[in-house]
Amino acid sequence: MKFKCPECDGDIETKEVIEGEIISCGDCGAELEVAKNNKGEFVLKTAESEGEDWGE
Ligand SMILES: [Zn+2]
Repeated sequence: MKFKCPECDGDIETKEVIEGEIISCGDCGAELEVAKNNKGEFVLKTAESEGEDWGE
């Protein structure tokens, strides 16, 4: 699957994604969370660390 990094607009390619997974952008190093939009499509959004434990 291919995504655009919301931070740097770079291309990110992954084999498969799971909702809630965190992906690091290879270009800018941003941590991106896999989410679903209202069409049920996977999208990447910047992962906020608001006291959430992502469990490394
Ligand atoms: Zn990026």
